[in-house]
Amino acid sequence: MVIELKKISFVNIDNFNLKIRDTMKFGTKAIHGGLHPDTATGAIMTPIYQTSTYVQEEVGINKGYAYSRSANPTRSALEANVATLENGKFGAAFGSGLAAIDCVLKMLNPGDEVITTNDLYGGTYRLFKTIFEKYGIKFHFVDMGGLTEVKSQINSKTKLIWVETPTNPTMKIIDIIGISKISKAHNLTLAVDNTFATPYLQLPLDLGADIVMHSATKYLGGHSDVVMGILVCKDEKIAKEIYRIQNSSGAICGPMDSFLVLRGIKTLHLRMKQHCENGRIIAHFLVNHPKVDKVYWPGLATHPNHEIAKSQMKDFGGMISFSLKGDNLKDAHKLMKKCKIFALAESLGGVESLLGHPATMTHAAIPKEERIKTGISDSLIRLSVGIEDSDDLVNDLKSALA
Ligand SMILES: *Cc1c(COP(=O)(O)O)cnc(C)c1O
Repeated sequence: MVIELKKISFVNIDNFNLKIRDTMKFGTKAIHGGLHPDTATGAIMTPIYQTSTYVQEEVGINKGYAYSRSANPTRSALEANVATLENGKFGAAFGSGLAAIDCVLKMLNPGDEVITTNDLYGGTYRLFKTIFEKYGIKFHFVDMGGLTEVKSQINSKTKLIWVETPTNPTMKIIDIIGISKISKAHNLTLAVDNTFATPYLQLPLDLGADIVMHSATKYLGGHSDVVMGILVCKDEKIAKEIYRIQNSSGAICGPMDSFLVLRGIKTLHLRMKQHCENGRIIAHFLVNHPKVDKVYWPGLATHPNHEIAKSQMKDFGGMISFSLKGDNLKDAHKLMKKCKIFALAESLGGVESLLGHPATMTHAAIPKEERIKTGISDSLIRLSVGIEDSDDLVNDLKSALA
């Protein structure tokens, strides 16, 4: 079957008749951006179009939807909504964050080279190393705290720069404008994993990135009830490539999950404000605790790239890592077991507070030498500070540390 792109409701937010979009502020966009009442019934909430196919008037004539791998109205609404939040034009939603990253990497050809951060999310590292290296793509993992290492790895085969900021779990801040200048000068594509910051705190496309990626599993969904990934871009050529791969590889998300994330996003701005406030309180509590060694949170004036964080982020979020004096793995495990509100779990960005131990959980796949080099010491604990009352969260950590 020959698929004609223009016939499929390829999510260009210009097709969503929303003249007020450009002047809307973030909270309004979160609730209304890219959305409209259901055209058939007036339902204010985007319906869950739980259908695989669509009846056609005659061969080649349909209402913009032909088959739900290619497009589904609930997914399209979500894709348009996130595109408006990121100040982009095109959105594409996937079955997981990694499926979204997989799509971006599939834009490359064997022999192409990628420059990326040396403290990537563990799953991204595994995808690059164990899947795409096999297909002849070469990765350079560099410290992006400054820009010299990035520049030094560029050659004629370089095609993509993949950035995560803040990084996971040591909350390094990468200068998106600085990297985008290098990327543009060499005609490369710059993709930013914006999962930790969310569009509420940071807008990579406005800072010069070409593609923004989200694990919507985290803050966008926000309620720990769905796994999903999203890509947003402004450029139509990139969008067509993304859409071609999304449709060809088929790693889409279902209508029910699309609905859940749309619903989650309606309170993104309110949740993020609380995550940031609780994050600030807990980071300062940890800094002043005698048993705590290092605290990693970009809002601290002592953070090495605090000034860049201040210039490219609206606030500093609720992700905090800290290590213990003596750097003992057993102490870290003991502390985590003693916490009653902070639950021991992988993932982040939900309303509930979670904690994890990168060295033995999310980053266990990274060789120890490499791990220590990037600051992931044995006692490092990562907190995803939720939106509970901060007094209770502080008391939980206080008694566990005692
Ligand atoms: C979770 C996460 C991913 C992967 O997303 P999944 O939805 O779990 O596939 C990628 N990057 C970051 C920063 C993440 O936190």
